[in-house]
Amino acid sequence: MTEKVGVLGKKTSRRTDVERIVETPLPTVYGKFRAYGYLDHERGDEQVALVHGDLEAEGVLTRLHSECLTGDAFGSRHCECGAQLATALRQVADAGSGVVVYLRGHEGRGIGLLAKLRAMALQAEGLDTVEANLALGLPVDARDYGAAARILDDLGVRSVRLMSNNPRKREALVRHGIRVAEQVPLLIPPCESNITYLRTKRERLDHHLPHLDAMAHAPS
Ligand SMILES: [Zn+2]
Repeated sequence: MTEKVGVLGKKTSRRTDVERIVETPLPTVYGKFRAYGYLDHERGDEQVALVHGDLEAEGVLTRLHSECLTGDAFGSRHCECGAQLATALRQVADAGSGVVVYLRGHEGRGIGLLAKLRAMALQAEGLDTVEANLALGLPVDARDYGAAARILDDLGVRSVRLMSNNPRKREALVRHGIRVAEQVPLLIPPCESNITYLRTKRERLDHHLPHLDAMAHAPS
């Protein structure tokens, strides 16, 4: 249980239990992982962490991957999520140990799959990814990392080398009590379909994407 100050300034209790339900071997094309399944009792989400090797060392190589059906499963080139997930799993396997927490409920930075598709339709008409969420009356980023922190805690991870370009993920983990020893860039070469999206992430969402400097500006 944690205490939270509600909108009226009153302290309210809320259940934040994230319960480990199952653990199973999961051989993948990247290497041998163990899949840990969790149930987030607060939000109702089913979550999975893929673990490779042992996590006892400090500075565990870690990715908190926000679910993206279109990118992760369909190979969408609208975003770079699919390549980031594959790269993270490969890097964890190559490093000999680490964890990828796959965060359900994070579609479209937390607005949900159908809303994300609506936002993509608006982006096809010329809005950027931030403007599209706002045009739908939705938050620019509604993701919560409390469950991720509790999963890492359950796995015995105290400090991480975080594979991310997003300073907000680092800040959120620190806020939830996980030490971020290092932020490891996860830079995917851009393509014509996602260069505008990636520039928006850099310019409006503070993502650290220095490799975009090498790309000429795409015509708008
Ligand atoms: Zn994506």
